[in-house]
Amino acid sequence: MIKTLVLSVPHAKAPFEKTTIERRELRSDDILIDIKYSGICHSDIHSAHGDWGGGIFPMVPGHEIVGVVEAIGSKVTKFAIGDQVGVGCFVNSCRECEYCLKGEEQFCTKGVISTYNAMDYDGNPTYGGYSQKIVVKEDFVLRMPDGLNLDVASPLLCAGITTYSPLRKWNAGPGKKVAIVGMGGLGHIAVQFAHAMGAEVTVLSQSMKKKEEAFGFGADHYYATSDPATFQQLAGRFDLILNTVSANLEVDKYLSMLRVDGTLVNVGAPAAPDQFHVFSLIAARRSIAGSLVGGIRETQEMLDFAAAHGITPQTEVIHGDQINEAYERVLRSDVRYRFVIDISTL
Ligand code: NAP
Ligand code: ZN
Ligand code: ZN
Repeated sequence: MIKTLVLSVPHAKAPFEKTTIERRELRSDDILIDIKYSGICHSDIHSAHGDWGGGIFPMVPGHEIVGVVEAIGSKVTKFAIGDQVGVGCFVNSCRECEYCLKGEEQFCTKGVISTYNAMDYDGNPTYGGYSQKIVVKEDFVLRMPDGLNLDVASPLLCAGITTYSPLRKWNAGPGKKVAIVGMGGLGHIAVQFAHAMGAEVTVLSQSMKKKEEAFGFGADHYYATSDPATFQQLAGRFDLILNTVSANLEVDKYLSMLRVDGTLVNVGAPAAPDQFHVFSLIAARRSIAGSLVGGIRETQEMLDFAAAHGITPQTEVIHGDQINEAYERVLRSDVRYRFVIDISTL
């Protein structure tokens, strides 16, 4: 077994502790990654706090993992020692079902295996990226393109693909008016992607505080949702609204800003159910949808797109012992725009 230092929570809502876990010895198709940086996604907080129910403890969160290949199994063909690689939100799937065959492993009918807080098919729990080392099957490892620095690139592995995938699916591009709700970790990357895809981008943030930065990320317009006039001014405006907010919104107010045939796509995942009036849909043949991360093939496409278009998450690199404080700050929306743990400081 491969011993590795981690940051783990012993039970829901407990503070982090520095502990040691064991990773499996390399199988023939495995890669051992020496982790350099690991982003802090709001989903890590929902999971470590038990917001979504359940949870496998002790838990080692982290699914925005970048590092360098340290060793490879005997049958690995896609990677070599020294390669810069990434791991996102899942580390296994059946690779036989309809969705796996289509490259949408996140919808695997046998059950996709999340990078942490899951039981792998072999019965062992998965532990994520707040860790010095991780062992992952090569098919679930991404190649980090040249031109992306590892510290700023790590949030692409979740926040990047989670926003890129629905923007592509719902055809964000020239002639489309796209709104991004919530400019946090996901939102600030969504703005950059939607702009690079050629859409007209509006940021809907709670306050005016992030206005200048939104324009820096490529937004064309910016409104505060704390101002009731915003919803009147923007009635019937958007083809697509991408909601990245971690809390419940007044859904009808957001639906009212969609054009005929417009879609509200939710990626934000609050614990409590949302409510809306079906008339908000009927009135303009609108749709409400959700989207879950993205498949391996699309994640690689997203990384290459980010490198080609100079899309760079804005990160604040922290030391391992700042993790509890970082969680508090994310909950207060006090991060510009993603915390990333420098794993060498564990
Ligand atoms: P984050 O960095 O905390 O950003 C969330 C943003 O939402 C905040 O920056 C804030 O933006 C806004 N917000 C927060 N509380 C709000 C409230 N009470 N009312 C209105 N707006 C509020 O979180 P994140 O890492 O981007 O994650 C966002 C959500 O996406 C989380 O629920 C996470 O679990 C989920 N997620 C889902 C997927 C998926 O596959 N579907 C993948 C990753 C994450 P402003 O300051 O601009 O208002
Ligand atoms: Zn995430
Ligand atoms: Zn499958």
